Amino acid sequence: MIVMKEEATEAEIGHVVERIEEVGCTAHLSEGELLTVIGAIGDRDRVASLGLEGAPGVDHLVPILKPYKLASAQFRKGERTVVEVDGRRLGGEHFGLIAGPCTVESREQTLEVAHAVNDAGAAMLRGGAYKPRTSPYAFQGLGVEGLRLLQEAKDQTGLPIVTEVMDVRDIPDVVEVADVAQVGARNMQNYTLLTELGRAGLPVLLKRGMQATIDEWLMAAEYIAQRGTLDIVLCERGIRTFETATRNTLDISAVPVAQAASHLPVIVDPSHASGRRDLIVPLSRAAIAVGADGIIVDVHPSPEDALCDGPQALVGHELRELAQAVRTLPPLLGRKSGVSEFGAPVRR
Ligand code: PEP
Ligand code: MN
Repeated sequence: MIVMKEEATEAEIGHVVERIEEVGCTAHLSEGELLTVIGAIGDRDRVASLGLEGAPGVDHLVPILKPYKLASAQFRKGERTVVEVDGRRLGGEHFGLIAGPCTVESREQTLEVAHAVNDAGAAMLRGGAYKPRTSPYAFQGLGVEGLRLLQEAKDQTGLPIVTEVMDVRDIPDVVEVADVAQVGARNMQNYTLLTELGRAGLPVLLKRGMQATIDEWLMAAEYIAQRGTLDIVLCERGIRTFETATRNTLDISAVPVAQAASHLPVIVDPSHASGRRDLIVPLSRAAIAVGADGIIVDVHPSPEDALCDGPQALVGHELRELAQAVRTLPPLLGRKSGVSEFGAPVRR
């Protein structure tokens, strides 16, 4: 990592970038308010051989020993990334609630949930049109028709849309509607998908694989970042352990560990972590207390009829209870609550 002097000129920055590229490495520019930092990615010895310490405009070099570089906390020198979508922010001092149906099932269900989510003051609407199901016989999602319904929900509420993309071939359709592209746990190490989403340019919500270590998760983020997208939200959604009382085990310590290792915001999905409606509010409180940057939860108008993940979906009054926790708790810990920022529902 090459830290440029405050007064470094564009020509000096350009010169450093050129020299890095000349030896077959990639230069990644991060322009902060005061400083420009250049990440040199590639063979360490080749970058060292350039002797950039003495180059005009260079302040100093910081070797980054972690296998991930652009995603590392060092890359932003301790500054936190704030992912902003339509004026709604996640990360830094901003805590956000993302809620919605696990799966887009019908127009009626999607719009009903979208309005409930908006009235609860959530920052964004989640909902899957492409569903990664364990069984090929289970409902696989509405696909393009589901995306159309999400667009309608967005038009009616103004809520930005978070939706999963499973296949690179669907990226063009998804980017038409999505404000944030979700990579599911099962695709966390689909490197082609990560690379193509990094190129697509929209923010990415990257779920932790259920068998992935925190380092592997951050390496997955690195794939996205390497293609130019640094707006990545990491999402802890539970890992596989020997415990069977819950669907997965929420690895709550992954939140501060990932936040210390990376500048990226880290949110928690208590719905997929626990698989149990009764645990969502307590686990959300735990997520807020541990310092998560947000939560993402499943909501359904009648969970017993849900085509996917009904047992973990909140109904309206539970969502309001959750919103109350999200309104009151983050400010106690020095955060702005996403709920109070977007209190007034927008109806178009
Ligand atoms: C989801 O959020 O709908 C989902 C499938 O989650 P995960 O990838 O974490 O299982
Ligand atoms: Mn689900």
